[in-house]
Amino acid sequence: MRAFAEPFRRGWRQEALVRDTLYDGHSDFQHIQVLDTIPFGRMLVLDDATQTSEVEEYLYHEMLVHVPMMAHPDPQRVLVIGGGDGGALRRVLEHPVRKATMVEIDGEVVRVSRALLPAIAGDAFDDPRAELIIGDGVRYLRETDEHFDVILVDSTDPVGPAADLFGESFYRDARRALGEDGLIVTQSGSPLVMLDELKDAVALMRRVFPLVRTYLCAIPLYPGVLWSFTAASVNCDPSAVAPAAIAARLRANGAPTGWYTPAIHRAAFALPNFLAAALEMQSPDDPAALPLPISGE
Ligand code: SAM
Repeated sequence: MRAFAEPFRRGWRQEALVRDTLYDGHSDFQHIQVLDTIPFGRMLVLDDATQTSEVEEYLYHEMLVHVPMMAHPDPQRVLVIGGGDGGALRRVLEHPVRKATMVEIDGEVVRVSRALLPAIAGDAFDDPRAELIIGDGVRYLRETDEHFDVILVDSTDPVGPAADLFGESFYRDARRALGEDGLIVTQSGSPLVMLDELKDAVALMRRVFPLVRTYLCAIPLYPGVLWSFTAASVNCDPSAVAPAAIAARLRANGAPTGWYTPAIHRAAFALPNFLAAALEMQSPDDPAALPLPISGE
């Protein structure tokens, strides 16, 4: 049986045994594969980088989406950039939002995911509150007049078409579209094998937003397993949400979660010492913690 492995990162590599290749093709933007694997079920791979899988997609999508959605007092307008598999859109629509706009550059990823990974999006693409735009998220945000409460960057790694999603002018456009209380969240790599990339992402976001918070989750699909997300805002601190308020909103949503709970929301912002030092961030409940740094502009 053959194995799929991403290229080595700093000497680290993970493998998954592959039962079958269900799709292998090239779009205008990337090499798209859907593999049927033993540990993760069906898995989406873009340009040899694992994106998501049927078995553990909830880890990434719940933490990407529910943390900022619960941090905002009343998210009504949400923008997802990338996210062609539909897993993030599905989690957004579990909240009572008015509209969720998804801007994905590659229509082929949406088409292939809907055909071969239908469980990941569920019926999100058919929800009347969902708007799917096939286009470049960087350009969309630069040109739009719309206001958003939450922006979720669910993109591939910062190379190729995704590179500008990790640039300062993108974050400035996001800040304009978000206003004072909105939040933007992006996945920010593995603190164990991509610490420099994470530090760069945090430094960049601090140039544009006064409030930047990194939080963690274990995601076995991604290199390094321990994975980070970073949220930024002018006013809204996602690490300071009361667990009781989250519990009430989860009950009202009525959609089960596999990983995310009110206690996990809070705990995800607890950073190990090496990471707190590297990012100059403090964990919210650490009794020895100094006040969280709020960087000026
Ligand atoms: N959860 C995944 C991860 O972190 O590995 C991301 C999955 S999602 C399939 C990533 C999507 O971002 C891809 O479908 C890709 O086409 C899209 N993407 C990359 N650059 C983009 C851009 N500039 N605008 C919109 N979508 C983009």
